[in-house]
Amino acid sequence: MKIKKLYFALVFIFISFLNLHSKPYVIIVSFDGFRWDYLNRNITPNLNEILNDGVHALSLRPSFPSKTFPNHISILTGMYPDNHGIISNNIKNIFNGKRYRIGNNKSVTEPEWYQGEFFWETAERNGIKTASYFWPGSEISDTLRSPNKVKPYEHNFPFINRIDTVVSWLKLPIQERPQFITLYFHETDSKGHDFGTESDEINEAIALVDSLAGYLFKQIQELPIKDSVNILFVSDHGMQNIDKNKIVNVEELISQYKYDLVDSGPLMQIFPNSENDKENIYAELKRNEKHFKAYLKNELPDYYHFGKHPLIAPIVLIADYEAYLVNNRISKRNYDLSAATHGYAKDHINMHGIFIANGPAFNKGMKTGTIWNIDIYPLLCELFKITPRSNIDGKIDRIRFILNNE
Ligand SMILES: [Zn+2]
Repeated sequence: MKIKKLYFALVFIFISFLNLHSKPYVIIVSFDGFRWDYLNRNITPNLNEILNDGVHALSLRPSFPSKTFPNHISILTGMYPDNHGIISNNIKNIFNGKRYRIGNNKSVTEPEWYQGEFFWETAERNGIKTASYFWPGSEISDTLRSPNKVKPYEHNFPFINRIDTVVSWLKLPIQERPQFITLYFHETDSKGHDFGTESDEINEAIALVDSLAGYLFKQIQELPIKDSVNILFVSDHGMQNIDKNKIVNVEELISQYKYDLVDSGPLMQIFPNSENDKENIYAELKRNEKHFKAYLKNELPDYYHFGKHPLIAPIVLIADYEAYLVNNRISKRNYDLSAATHGYAKDHINMHGIFIANGPAFNKGMKTGTIWNIDIYPLLCELFKITPRSNIDGKIDRIRFILNNE
């Protein structure tokens, strides 16, 4: 009898051991604003080596608006911003007066803004440990909805130290070790905005994040679990130089009416004070549609997948490619704008980011066409063999072909 018990105990331990060791690890790294074609500048030896050994998509198509928070959250929820709720980097809730702003540390932690389920939530419900060294939305204050380990955003925290911490997490005892980790670097976005897409400064930023990719990859190759680690390198959007001849101060066109403006740049939302103001403002903007298009919320073309969410303004302006919409405040600053920006429609190729996948789950040496960022969430579910939420916009059937079926 004792021998039988011992036998079962040993079998149980052996199976548990096998299970723990066959589990995959996935690290998703975002280089903010890393445009799809930055990889063709001959300054990214590390990323080029990693993509040659894995899957490289021509580009990663963002969701509209091609802004930072909406797209990082589309990547990890599989939903368009219209459905996950982070419809822009700045949101006004007309029902209670509250604002969501990316620079406002408190508002980004409030769970009420986030209507999608992040992959880390799906993973944790399935017993998978998760961790984040930054990702928009990761600081959500509801611990049931946040990664198991999370770092409060610190813009200037040294890049190398972020990587060292992630690698140290992968060395934790197996019971504590996260299997899904996010990592974020802003450098290519900042330098793209400040100096434009053809500057020495952006090229230095591209080379810098490439060296970080190389450093991370090398650290992982030295881990005992290296054969179970998959790495994705993605970006939330691309970057486009602004044409300074296509700047429109929208407030000059509608100064006789009463309204509230949210956002500037490629997308502007207008909350008129009354139904009468709404009709007049819309008519005025339609008469002056130069370098932008004006839409009533319910008339936005399906193409944008943008217009159903209750917090989208009654009037939405979308700038033409390279154009830029400003308010009086920016106008008074003499249009002192960034050199480049993003937020334009999702099919402008310069709005596209990168998608590179490397590891045992992926094909090797595979080049694909453009991949949609909403399909990454179902891809992550497939990697961990867990069921995605049924209300997502992403589709595993559009992306499954990059997986190694062996
Ligand atoms: Zn961004």
